[in-house]
Amino acid sequence: MTQEELFKSLIAHAKEYGFIFQSSEIYDGLSAVYDYGQLGVELKNNIKKYWWDAMVRLNENIVGLDSAIFMHPKIWEASGHVGAFNDPLIDNKDSKKRYRADVLLEDFIAKLEEKIEKDVEKGRKKFGDAFDEPQFRETNPNVLRNKKKADDVRIRMNNALNSNNLEELRQVILDCEIACPVSGSRNWTEVRQFNLMFSTQMGSVSEDASVIYLRPETAQGIFVNFLNVQKTGRMKLPFGIAQIGKAFRNEIVARQFIFRMREFEQMEMQFFVRPGEELKWFEHWKKARLRWHEAIGLGESKYRFHDHEKLAHYANAAADIEFEFPFGFKELEGIHSRTDFDLSQHQKFSGKKMQYFDPETNESYVPYVIETSIGLDRTFLAIYSSAYCEEKLENGDERVVLKLPAFLAPVKLAVLPLVKKDGLPDVARRIMDDLKIDFNCQYDEKDSIGKRYRRQDAIGTPFCITIDHQTIEDDTVTIRYRDSMQQERISAKELRGIIENKVNFRNIFSKL
Ligand code: ATP
Repeated sequence: MTQEELFKSLIAHAKEYGFIFQSSEIYDGLSAVYDYGQLGVELKNNIKKYWWDAMVRLNENIVGLDSAIFMHPKIWEASGHVGAFNDPLIDNKDSKKRYRADVLLEDFIAKLEEKIEKDVEKGRKKFGDAFDEPQFRETNPNVLRNKKKADDVRIRMNNALNSNNLEELRQVILDCEIACPVSGSRNWTEVRQFNLMFSTQMGSVSEDASVIYLRPETAQGIFVNFLNVQKTGRMKLPFGIAQIGKAFRNEIVARQFIFRMREFEQMEMQFFVRPGEELKWFEHWKKARLRWHEAIGLGESKYRFHDHEKLAHYANAAADIEFEFPFGFKELEGIHSRTDFDLSQHQKFSGKKMQYFDPETNESYVPYVIETSIGLDRTFLAIYSSAYCEEKLENGDERVVLKLPAFLAPVKLAVLPLVKKDGLPDVARRIMDDLKIDFNCQYDEKDSIGKRYRRQDAIGTPFCITIDHQTIEDDTVTIRYRDSMQQERISAKELRGIIENKVNFRNIFSKL
C-alpha cells in the first residue's frame, strides 16, 4: 500500500469509527472544517490533559488562562495581523482554482527532491553493497542538476517572499513552468496578498457595528492579560501563562485532512523572562518540548527540529518541531523567541504600561517572551496516524488496530460477557459499574467474542475483559492485551490495579 492509500484508509477509518466527521456533511460538507465524534473527542481531551498537566501542574511557575475568542480589534493591529498576516495567492484563469503561490513552489521543490531520492534508490539497487551514498549524491549528474534547480527555486522564492515582491513570485512560477493540476494550463493571474483573518461585526445597529476578528492565534489573549495574571497571581519572572483554545484562519489551500483547517485548536504557552536571558530559555523549551513529544512513545525518529533561518520581524530565534506525517515531515509545533515585541506593541497601542517591576534589581522593564505553540489537531493526527495499523495475522485473518498509547486511548477497557445468558451479563455489569468510576469503559455483548475483540482493536482499546462461566465459580476473568493479543486469567480483584498501572499519566510524567 502506498502512503497515499494508507492515508485515505485512515481517514475513512476515522469516520467509520466515530473519531472525525466532515463538518456539515449532510449539506455536502464545509471545506477544511471537521467535527470530532464520540471517540475523537475523548482522544482529544486526553491529549489536552497531557499538555495542560505537563505545563500547568508540573511547573510551579506556569499558570493557565482561558481568554475570549473575540478581542478588541486594535489588538490585531498592534500584533501586526491586520497589516501582515497574509498569504500570497494566485488563480488559474482556466480552472478558476486558487492556490498559495508559495505552496505551488514548495510542491515543485518537493517533486525535485522526490526525483533525487528515486535516483538514489536506483543507484542503491544497481551497485548493491558497493553503493557509496554520499559519493553518489555528490557526483551523479541527475542528482546534482535537480538539487541545483531546487536550491535556485528556493532562494528565489524566499527572496521574493521576504521583499514582498509579488511579481517576482509569479515569475518564478512561470519560469518553473508550473501548470495547474486541474486545468493543466499555465494561464495564471497576478499574485495578490490575502489576509487570513476572518472578520465579522459586533453591535446591533449596522452603522454602529465595528469590525471584529476571530482570533488567528490564542497568544494575544495571553499578552493582553500579562499584567492581570502577574499581579493577581503574584508571579515572579521567569513565569509562563498557558492556554488551550480555538483559532481561525481562512487558509487558501486547506488540505491533508485535519493538518490544515480553517477552525482549529492551539495549545500555547508564553514564558516571560528577563531581557538577555531569552536564548537560554529558548534552548530550555526546545529540549523540554521535544521530551514531551517523545514521552508519548511514537518513536524518536519521527521528530526533528527545523531551525528557522528566515526569522519573523519580531523573533530573534525560532525552531519548529516537525513530525513525520504520512505525507512527510511537517510542522507540528513552533518554539519562538518573540523578544519584547508583543508586549511593547500593546504598550504602544493601548497607552497602558506593560512593564514588570523586578524586586531583585529594583527595575521596571518589558519582559522578553519565549512561546511554545502546538496545534492540538495536528498532534491528534500525529498520534492517530502513527497508531493506525493494518495487520495480517498468523491464521491468515486481517485486523485493523489502533495502537494508541494506553494513557491517551479513548476507551481504556471493554467488558465482554462470553455469552448473553447464564447470569454472565449481570456479573459483567457489576465489574463494569465498579471500573467505570476510574476508567472510560465500554460494555459489549453482541456478536461472537472474536468480532467484539476486532471492534475494540479498531478503536484502540488497550484491554478487553472477558467474563465466562468460570468467573461465576472463582471470580477470575481473562484480560486480553490489544497489541500482543495475549490473554491471561487473573482475579477480578486485580483488574483495577493492573489497568491503572498501564494507563496512568504518572508513568509518562516521570519521563519529562
Ligand atoms: P504553517 O506554516 O503550517 O501554516 P504556521 O507556522 O502558520 O503553520 P503557527 O502560526 O506557528 O503556524 O501556529 C502554531 C501551530 O498551530 C502550528 O505549529 C500548527 O500545529 C498549528 N496550526 C497552524 N495553522 C493551522 C491550521 N490551519 N490547522 C491546524 N493547525 C494549525
